Amino acid sequence: RMSFVPVASGFAQSLRIELEQADPQNFAKEARIVADQMRELQKKTEENQLNQAKVQDKIPLIVIDPGHGGPDFGAVGLNNIAEKDVVLAFAKTLREKIEQSGLFRAALTRDGDVFIPLRERIRIARSQGAVLFISIHADRIPNAAEVKGITIYTNADKATDAEAALLAESENRADLMGGEDTEALREEVTDILEDLAKRETRMKSGLFARTLLGRMESMGQSINKNPIRSAGFRVLRAPDIPSVLLELGYLSSQADVKFLTDPQSRDKMGQEVADAIFRYFALNPVP
Ligand code: ZN
Repeated sequence: RMSFVPVASGFAQSLRIELEQADPQNFAKEARIVADQMRELQKKTEENQLNQAKVQDKIPLIVIDPGHGGPDFGAVGLNNIAEKDVVLAFAKTLREKIEQSGLFRAALTRDGDVFIPLRERIRIARSQGAVLFISIHADRIPNAAEVKGITIYTNADKATDAEAALLAESENRADLMGGEDTEALREEVTDILEDLAKRETRMKSGLFARTLLGRMESMGQSINKNPIRSAGFRVLRAPDIPSVLLELGYLSSQADVKFLTDPQSRDKMGQEVADAIFRYFALNPVP
């Protein structure tokens, strides 16, 4: 029997343990019952955890990657609006829309205003077995207030145009902010199997990009003149996960800033991107 006994001075308490003589046979019996119950409980808990893990495993995971964060503001546009904040707000909305479906799980590479190196973003997606990786960004072009709308980028060794090449360069620069060793990020020479896997991943990325564009177009979103482009984006280099980079719009455009900072528009666009994901996987089921 145990009891706490207050001590006269200070905050201390003394613990009193009283021992009683127990009947050895009874004690052994009771101990056995308790042990059996504990084992049963332990088994049930383990089974539950296993079942839960199995269910979780079966629901495919989409990883959403809000660009920049922490000391890296990304593009800073009209009204001093920072890309890192715009993309995080959108990523959270998209996560909600995906999770609501019950068809997919969604996770963010960053949930707050923190810096995460590009390679780490890919590692997060790969370690959790993501089936799709969507990096969210917002662009800015100085002295071109009329340029606006959504652009979808995929990874390629050769950029489709000069603007895409410039954008990739500027997005890749994110790592310099955190002192990341960019030399180590250089793509290594790979074997032929990995090369094939990469090619397939690129094909799927292109397919998803077109599905996404189709959805946005049919819903009347503001689309950039040249809406699907490619360049050497480091963050899209997971060899085995289809990856796209979605530029939500231009922070140098009055219309886009208005749209991107309005919670209702964000909600609508989040739903459209989620619907594009569901459509893509309805046509290209997860293996
Ligand atoms: Zn960006």
